[in-house]
Amino acid sequence: MSDDQTKMYCPECQWHGLWHERLTGKHPFYADLDIYGCPKCKAIETLRHGCVVAGCREGAVEHTTWSDPSGAISRYCWIHAPWGPAI
Ligand SMILES: [Zn+2]
Ligand SMILES: [Zn+2]
Repeated sequence: MSDDQTKMYCPECQWHGLWHERLTGKHPFYADLDIYGCPKCKAIETLRHGCVVAGCREGAVEHTTWSDPSGAISRYCWIHAPWGPAI
């Protein structure tokens, strides 16, 4: 599974990008932990997963993660969630 195609967005500045574009660094207090941040506004630990549907720029809602039989993890916004609005 490649992280590179995982869409992320920042609620603070509306940045949208891919997982590998995020900023990463070492936690200042816990040497074995990594922290990550928004490459646009530099906010730390704010990034959230974006909807996996191509072209969709909504953020994935909480608790909408499924593992399909191939092992891939899918995340959807409220529009594209399987139980979401029909229209
Ligand atoms: Zn940001
Ligand atoms: Zn969507």
